Amino acid sequence: MSPLGRVFDVSKGCVHDGPGLRTVVFLKGCALGCPWCHNLEGTSHRPQIAYDAALCIRCGRCVEACPRNPGAWALDGTDAWRDGCDLAGRCVEVCPSGARRKVGRELSVEELVREVLVDADFFRGTGGGVTFSGGEPLLQADFVFACAAELATRNVHVAVQTAGLWPRRHVAELAERADLVLFDLKHCDAAAITRVMGVDGRAILENLDALLATDVELELCVTLVPGFNSGRDELEAIARWLRQRPRVPAVKLQPFHRLASGKAALYGTRYPHADTTPPGDAELEAAARLLREHGLPVVAG
Ligand code: SF4
Ligand code: SF4
Repeated sequence: MSPLGRVFDVSKGCVHDGPGLRTVVFLKGCALGCPWCHNLEGTSHRPQIAYDAALCIRCGRCVEACPRNPGAWALDGTDAWRDGCDLAGRCVEVCPSGARRKVGRELSVEELVREVLVDADFFRGTGGGVTFSGGEPLLQADFVFACAAELATRNVHVAVQTAGLWPRRHVAELAERADLVLFDLKHCDAAAITRVMGVDGRAILENLDALLATDVELELCVTLVPGFNSGRDELEAIARWLRQRPRVPAVKLQPFHRLASGKAALYGTRYPHADTTPPGDAELEAAARLLREHGLPVVAG
């Protein structure tokens, strides 16, 4: 049976996630939980209910529609309604103002392929294609690979953006199915990854090494996060580590940004980096210069 994918967005006309004009498919679920993550919709594999208090007209229909009521919760300006929520979204169906949204939908390979092929002419005209992102797309590897196989039959370029934490057995099929892998390299120190994300940093770096041993086209993206990886010592360590690999792919730098601080409230969470100042253009340029001086092929972000 064709696998189902759980997707939180299909974004058209993107220009930063691979060559040409792209449709980016954002899949739900990620094992890393980077504190600076801006795709809060992608962190959980389950659907999420977003509630925007600014759009709420206090009609009370959500309270009435919720199967846990009467009595389980009231619209009191807190997130108490989330306790025990089954995420089925009756409240979303009755909300007249769009204050409630269910984030995450399941769709088949055929449905996804049909949806993205609407822009096939743009892909052909611009050398673009489809990028699978997230979340971590390779936590739904069967779905991504099945979509990629279908898209290959239509000559659509496929990129997969990954943070690298998934079973090693996916390497060969990823290399076969993807035209381009965009690998988010957080750090070259496995212990630093483990300390901040609480996951097996060594497994991530070993997956990158395994990909480097294939001939798949790779691009590394380093998101500069103050206090984690943007200092001179960390950047030099990344350069040294990469130069010891059998091949050194193109490296892109980008600053972390705080877009998520505005949407954290929609999901009843707090954004831990709300007070961290993102690196500016000068810091970005200095980091790029440093990496180039150490022999890395840094390309424009
Ligand atoms: S999604 Fe949660 S809050 Fe909304 S109706 Fe269902 S249980 Fe109630
Ligand atoms: S149904 Fe929508 S607009 Fe009405 S109270 Fe609930 S969230 Fe607010």
